[in-house]
Amino acid sequence: MYDKYELVAGLEIHARLKTQTKLFCSCSNDTFSKEANSLICPICAGFPGALPVLNKEALSMAIKTGLALKCDVKKFSKFDRKSYFYPDLPSGFQISQYDEPICEGGELEVYVGEEKKTFQFNRIHMENDAGKLTHENHSSLVDLNRAGSPLIEMVTEPCFRSSEDVFEFLKELQRTLRFLGTSDADMEKGMMRCDANISIRLKGAVEFGTKVEIKNMNSFNNIKKALDYEFVRQVKAVEKGEKLIQETRGWVDDKEITVSQRSKEESADYRYFPEPDLPPVILDNAELDAYKKEVPELSAQKRTRFINDFKLPFKHASTLSWERELAEFFEEVVKISNNPQKAANLILGDYLALQKEQEVNISAANLAKIIKLMDEGKISSKIAKEILPEISKSDLDPEKYVEEKGLIQMSDTGELETVCQEVMSENPKMVEDFKGGKEKAIGGLVGQVMKKTQGKASPPMVNDILRKLMS
Ligand code: ADP
Ligand code: ZN
Ligand code: MG
Repeated sequence: MYDKYELVAGLEIHARLKTQTKLFCSCSNDTFSKEANSLICPICAGFPGALPVLNKEALSMAIKTGLALKCDVKKFSKFDRKSYFYPDLPSGFQISQYDEPICEGGELEVYVGEEKKTFQFNRIHMENDAGKLTHENHSSLVDLNRAGSPLIEMVTEPCFRSSEDVFEFLKELQRTLRFLGTSDADMEKGMMRCDANISIRLKGAVEFGTKVEIKNMNSFNNIKKALDYEFVRQVKAVEKGEKLIQETRGWVDDKEITVSQRSKEESADYRYFPEPDLPPVILDNAELDAYKKEVPELSAQKRTRFINDFKLPFKHASTLSWERELAEFFEEVVKISNNPQKAANLILGDYLALQKEQEVNISAANLAKIIKLMDEGKISSKIAKEILPEISKSDLDPEKYVEEKGLIQMSDTGELETVCQEVMSENPKMVEDFKGGKEKAIGGLVGQVMKKTQGKASPPMVNDILRKLMS
């Protein structure tokens, strides 16, 4: 019965901007694990009469995010008061943007499996965060450190048709914010929060069904699970002839279900009105152009460039462009070594593997030197792999290191021939086998030579010499 229905979802994502100070006051925005209520002032603590001043850095980050997401950044936007009463919001209202947000529209391209999809934004607006409540025994504790932190709320269109769509979209969005440096977008730390709206409809239907809003999910995996759960719940209800109601449901993590919390409030409940203490935000073309120049190359653009310019396969390009730090490191190594293929192989292979085991401090210059040593035939990829852990610990110079340790590959044919002769006389059976037509036997001989030379011989060279000597 599930095949008859299609999932429709839209997201409301809050991201905490990575500014120095809060949205409307000069309190520090670096509130993570600080003593409760140590970073507050009359403005963010909501004292009556305290006057807010818009943080320019927050505005700039909101605009840059909008530009990166191809939004229409508005030349006129304004703030509004959104009233609600909750102990973590002492002023009784949040300063948000209602009918004139900073950004409208926008889109993000995402790969869902092999398929490239585009998902649309409805708007992005700025608003301040509330404080944090902790419930303990029979009391509730309020910490206002987070109150007044700058948020952007990104609202999508109801454009998602599966939980995979949503999952991949959120990962790409997170990556985008991180590349921009506008938010850490970490769900576990509450730097990114996402409410998911979901409805169902018969496949082929044009009209949307009644939506349910799901809250309280603290990871991308939970969002995916909550959507899958809710889809099944709604289909079952409709099939039973029940009428779905528009409501807010909470995700219960340990039971992996959603439960009804309240029927949805209307915007009239918030009694929005223009914030009288803040002037509208007005931007001109010159300012917008300046912001455009500040938008860096993003993950997806880097990926495309790695594929086109460096001829890397999609998967490799994708992993290397995943995080800004790694992408920039890779590009630096390519620039110095001029060998994108080897740089990609070394970083994706030995370098990333090593990072899981130990601290890796190697500079791009020294990693590029390892590549150069391989290119010049001075070391084999085997030696490269072996020296990487030592070199990485304190960023040693690989050229000096291999010289000091006597690891430079033997390129003297005469010397190698002597070793080959020795190995042949020590392994007459292998020689006999090879001469008798057993091609594979040569592998054993090469192995012995490598062992004798402590890996310093070049295997293709050894192979050639052995063949010559045995022919
Ligand atoms: P409301 O007026 O209830 O706040 P909005 O139209 O502002 O609703 O949309 C809020 C969020 O819900 C948006 O992310 C939007 O994409 C999503 N949404 C709207 N209608 C539906 C629907 N029928 N099914 C799923 N999501 C929806
Ligand atoms: Zn403050
Ligand atoms: Mg709405």
